[in-house]
Amino acid sequence: MALLNEEWLPAARMKRIITHWTVGGYAANDFEREHYHFLIEGNGKVVRGEKSIVDNVNTTDGLYAAHTLNANQESIGVCACCMSGAVERPFRPGNFPLTEKQYLVMAGVVAELCRAYDIVVTPQTVLGHGEVQINLGIKQRGKWDPMVLPWDTALSYTQVGTYFRSLVTRALEGKPNDDQEIAAEDPPILVKARVKGKTFSDAILDDGSSYLPIYSLAKALGWQPPKITGGSVMFSASGTVKHTLALKRVGANSYVSARDIAEILGTTPSWEKATRTVVVG
Ligand SMILES: [Zn+2]
Repeated sequence: MALLNEEWLPAARMKRIITHWTVGGYAANDFEREHYHFLIEGNGKVVRGEKSIVDNVNTTDGLYAAHTLNANQESIGVCACCMSGAVERPFRPGNFPLTEKQYLVMAGVVAELCRAYDIVVTPQTVLGHGEVQINLGIKQRGKWDPMVLPWDTALSYTQVGTYFRSLVTRALEGKPNDDQEIAAEDPPILVKARVKGKTFSDAILDDGSSYLPIYSLAKALGWQPPKITGGSVMFSASGTVKHTLALKRVGANSYVSARDIAEILGTTPSWEKATRTVVVG
């Protein structure tokens, strides 16, 4: 099914597509719509920006979607609405983490744009804002969007860029990019975990990172019951301090990264090879 209306795709010569996140909430506001041609809201809905793609053919008149410093001419800007309050290092997704759904829709939108404007998928023609400085040699001001996947923070920016281009290529080849298929390709491995002396048999290892079942964890450690909203979970580990972490869902279960929990407990996770156990605290 097409994500973009045909009338949103006027004939124009475009060189590349640059992806972003807004550093905002899950809904597109008017200010954000000024800066991008297409925006993907938290639920995966695609919203058209104020400026047309034609406005970015020539940017000397100042009337165009300004999404990337000194790289707006012949560039289409596609943006996921998310990541308000996010911190790069140590990574914190904030209360509106980029969702996998948004990311997959964004790949679908980019694929439709590649097809409409004859753009071949390369690191110079389909890239994240955070890749512009390296891939195009055009200096940016410390941009890192959208190069961290809150559901898989172990990936480097380079790996995320490559992964996104692979999703776009798959979409162009007509292969589905749905969550189930991705999960089926790379099922998580069940492992044990020990957190502050409590043992869990239902932790998982996925793509080299370990995740802990948030409900069992909170119960075993006597924490307040966690509250899940969208792609994140809020809980309190001691007293009144509230923590918000990115949530990983596998089937009906909800997990948080062992590394995030370790950070909250002021420690680092380790791997006990003999017993296949993730040890935290
Ligand atoms: Zn950006």
